[in-house]
Amino acid sequence: MIYREYGQTGEKVSLLGFGGMRFKNVDDHDECVRMMVAAAEGGVNYFDTAPGYFGTKSETVFGKGLAELRRRNLPYFAATKTFESSEAGIRKEIEAQLKRLNIPAIDFYHIWCITDLNNWKERKNNGILQTFKKLKDEKLIRHICISSHLIKNEIKELLMEGAFEGVLFGYSAYNFNTRQEAFDAIKEKKLGAVVMNPMGGGVIPQHPELFGFMRREGESTVVAALRILWDHPEITNTLVGFETIEQVKEALQAMEGYKPRTSAELAEVKAKAPASFEGICTGCGYCAGCPAGVPIPQLMDAYNQKLLAKPGEKDPIGDRLYWHWDLERADAAKCTACGQCEKACTQHIDIIKRLKEIAG
Ligand code: SF4
Ligand code: SF4
Repeated sequence: MIYREYGQTGEKVSLLGFGGMRFKNVDDHDECVRMMVAAAEGGVNYFDTAPGYFGTKSETVFGKGLAELRRRNLPYFAATKTFESSEAGIRKEIEAQLKRLNIPAIDFYHIWCITDLNNWKERKNNGILQTFKKLKDEKLIRHICISSHLIKNEIKELLMEGAFEGVLFGYSAYNFNTRQEAFDAIKEKKLGAVVMNPMGGGVIPQHPELFGFMRREGESTVVAALRILWDHPEITNTLVGFETIEQVKEALQAMEGYKPRTSAELAEVKAKAPASFEGICTGCGYCAGCPAGVPIPQLMDAYNQKLLAKPGEKDPIGDRLYWHWDLERADAAKCTACGQCEKACTQHIDIIKRLKEIAG
């Protein structure tokens, strides 16, 4: 396992991290704990969860897993997050989180999911930074971090405030071009950088032919997708949301045989990523709950096929809609353009425009 310094904290974090958002069966506590132990025995020491992963079930099972790691003397850092921004709200949340996680302090505590700068301003106006500093003084958290889905100059602006010790953001082979500014700020402010969603919500393994540009001899698409992230020296940790213990083992094996590219080699591969990869829907579901009842993630999944279609392929959106047997183009026409979904979209997709195109 490779370990890297998390920003200026002095903590040494494993380059491969364990994300608690995709357990195949989160209610099978024994299996989830076995997965965490297998990862820790392979050298993983960064375990990330959130109060919204399977409701609070991910944090609860992490509580059991972390207790087992302590029993086996396996070192770990626990990371989680909060959407709350008032002092009262955060204190109530963290009290419950510490109980669920069964630990006295959270190592990396994140201000969760900034998708636009206005929302960040609102949270600051609610005193979130002061509250996080108090929690740190009280030793309830150890490091102040942020998670964000902002892109380009907006993420740079957020990170350049200098209020955080590290950042968590989505990064994978299909959005190389929209996160460079984040890396500029990470370098300048010497931040820890944890990246999530390395498989693009499954889009990358589902399209091995399109992501062949990053595969080296003998590498599967999954292994290549992880290794190309490890090639970035600014990245401290790559979170994988493991579903099964087999996936934990596969990721550990990818680390065993890993030979880093030089920065020139990395730049050469990144330059081959098609610009059309930008704006792919990752199926995260943050846009769900449309007041007009539009099934947005499903329709955006259908639109993905247009972005990923091979040259000459006819009607890729229609083909995908065929497989979503309960969807119709008319579902897209229900949109009233209220804008709610676009504000929530983690990938900054122009959903309304795409829906119009689907509706025809
Ligand atoms: S913009 Fe359209 S699709 Fe998005 S939430 Fe509003 S009505 Fe629903
Ligand atoms: S449209 Fe955006 S918010 Fe909705 S599922 Fe896709 S990426 Fe996520």
